[in-house]
Amino acid sequence: MEKVKLPNKVDPARCAQHGLAYQGVYAPALMPRLAELTQGIHGDIDVSLNFGTDAQGLRLMTGEARVQVSLQCQRCNELLDTTIESEFTYMPVRANATAPELPEDYDLIEVDEVGEIDLVRLTEDELILSLPQIPAHDNEQCSLGQFDQSFGKLPSADERPNPFASLEALKRK
Ligand SMILES: [Zn+2]
Repeated sequence: MEKVKLPNKVDPARCAQHGLAYQGVYAPALMPRLAELTQGIHGDIDVSLNFGTDAQGLRLMTGEARVQVSLQCQRCNELLDTTIESEFTYMPVRANATAPELPEDYDLIEVDEVGEIDLVRLTEDELILSLPQIPAHDNEQCSLGQFDQSFGKLPSADERPNPFASLEALKRK
């Protein structure tokens, strides 16, 4: 499928009325904050969005965003390539509007003075929130080798229980 450039801003109420769906990409250059928090963004940011109305008649935008980035492994300090993904559901509201009771997994987003939302900013925020707090390779891929959950407390060889210790003890008797 051909990748289309997404609009940077949309009027979510109009999109919801027409039941629009978008699938496309944003260029990484549009997301300098994400670039700064990673060791590099690889390729475009894939985004799909659906506008519609839920059973209660609330106008909604649901979406998914996905991007490949490099992060610095906090164990071995080398780079790790990973996919950051986010799924979200937003209900657009006017500034100062009284928000209705919302289901838990809905977020509110305020539209600007012309009734639009900034999709680039929203997507960037979502991806930043999805970055791992402590990026680290899986055990098998980390150049520091394998060790258990006890992050930061890699036991030295001397502290590790020696499986032959009990044998040694027997032999010495
Ligand atoms: Zn590592």
